[in-house]
Amino acid sequence: MKKYDDIVVGSGMSGLTMALILGMNGRKVLLLEKNPSVGGSVSRFYKNGIPFDTGFHFTGGLQKDGILYDILSVLEIRDLIRPIFLSQERANCFYIESEGRQYEVPYGIDNIKKKFKDYFPGEASAIDRYFTMVQKVCDITPSMDLRTIFSEHILIDEDFVTLEEVLNKITQNRVLKALLSALAMCYGVKPEEISFANHSRMCLGLYHSVARIENGGNALVEACKKKLKDHDVEIRCNRYITELADINNKKVGRFVLNTGEEVSGDNCIFTIHPREILKILPKEYVSRAFADRVSDFESSAGFFSVFAVLDADYEEPEFDSSILSIYPHCDINALLDPAYRGVPALVLIRSVEHVRDKTYKTVNAFEISFPEHVREWEDSKTGKRPRSYQDYKRSRVDDIVSRIIKVFPQYKDKLKIVDSASVLTFRDYLNSPDGSAYGIKQKVSQFNLQGRLPLRNLYAAGQSSLLPGIIGAMMSSFIVGRTILDEHTFREFIFRNLTT
Ligand SMILES: Cc1cc2nc3c(=O)[nH]c(=O)nc-3n(C[C@H](O)[C@H](O)[C@H](O)COP(=O)(O)OP(=O)(O)OC[C@H]3O[C@@H](n4cnc5c(N)ncnc54)[C@H](O)[C@@H]3O)c2cc1C
Repeated sequence: MKKYDDIVVGSGMSGLTMALILGMNGRKVLLLEKNPSVGGSVSRFYKNGIPFDTGFHFTGGLQKDGILYDILSVLEIRDLIRPIFLSQERANCFYIESEGRQYEVPYGIDNIKKKFKDYFPGEASAIDRYFTMVQKVCDITPSMDLRTIFSEHILIDEDFVTLEEVLNKITQNRVLKALLSALAMCYGVKPEEISFANHSRMCLGLYHSVARIENGGNALVEACKKKLKDHDVEIRCNRYITELADINNKKVGRFVLNTGEEVSGDNCIFTIHPREILKILPKEYVSRAFADRVSDFESSAGFFSVFAVLDADYEEPEFDSSILSIYPHCDINALLDPAYRGVPALVLIRSVEHVRDKTYKTVNAFEISFPEHVREWEDSKTGKRPRSYQDYKRSRVDDIVSRIIKVFPQYKDKLKIVDSASVLTFRDYLNSPDGSAYGIKQKVSQFNLQGRLPLRNLYAAGQSSLLPGIIGAMMSSFIVGRTILDEHTFREFIFRNLTT
């Protein structure tokens, strides 16, 4: 039986980060991935030679000394990642159809405040107050900075109040409220459910800067893989744990894999969905309260996606990486409600992709969707779904294409649909139990599975444990790393590549 210091389960951004933190500190690490290749949600896929991103399109925090800049520096992969910063003036454009108006939101907090004050001249003090509060939350949250991170995530007062409650206190302007909550599409939870603290932690990076990465999520995956190789981390794909055996004094001694192989490890860190972790834990070690807590976690929103490309001969001098979010109205709570049956929110991401000597102008469309929308086909599997499901997909694709043409009429007859994906596609390709984009719904006053589990050498990390998005997924692994490595080693590791 092969022995490891640490076994990491799942190779999305959280698992790759976790394996790297441990491997870079001289530990013998095994990384297990259920899929045939590593990367999880951030892996790109190629169709007709054209690259499309599954679950990573843009991020904040890549500006110098930003949170992601620091993470990549500590992992010694920053030089391998080339950010493409979006236009500072109109990084995030929001078109609110009921208002018949587009709002261009720049980055840089002073720039955003100025722009919002131009749009809402009577709301200057509300705007100042909101941004002061967001900044304060992030300043006092230790897990927002690698220099101050603890071995557990510390909650603050703002974790116990919703975004909606805060917004209602500072303004009555419904359009301003909608714009301040509009980045909810980046975490998939209603303003009436997310805590103000988690909303702030998710948004601050995107208020400072918005960037894509050259080669998309694959750049991150390839950079991690190279570094994992340098540190002799063993990666095994098509592998998952089927049984935890030899449990003594609440410590697992043997991990049985789906191939029948057995390995041992001092620690095992699960970076997968909490419901999947629950399935692996032996029932006799799981209290009723723990099982109920995990079963009660709800799903964040998912997406119905369309992946398209513009004709090779189509010229558009202004075509650049850009994000346009289309909201039919200002009720963000309704748009994120599985029972909502009106026109959904739609995010359009345009990007220019270079593959060898070819250039592609791609348009990726993400329309909010939920498992409830595909309930009748939930027992079907990719490649074997019934005709009615294909009809559902076709009609949703047609609707989305008409919406794209409405905002970009110049694309009529120029746009080729290359692929599409429902919540079920995401579920099956990403091994996530519900196909949601961001793991579990981060609800106010909820206690996520984070860090140590009921068995002493098992830990939980990943997007559902701290916060979604690549930053949340990666930071969750630093929190667990802080527990597994001794404090001195961890600090040395962090400060080796970070200025104080
Ligand atoms: C459509 C979409 C768009 C998104 N856009 C963005 C964006 O623009 N910016 C951003 O920052 N974030 C975005 N996200 C969210 C982001 O992708 C995730 O928050 C993040 O990548 C999650 O990382 P993770 O490691 O926690 O989980 P995952 O990436 O889900 O990785 C988990 C891995 O574990 C594997 N696995 C599951 N079960 C097992 C098992 N039992 N044994 C072994 N392996 C297992 C899975 O196959 C997977 O590889 C988006 C997500 C989606 C779906």
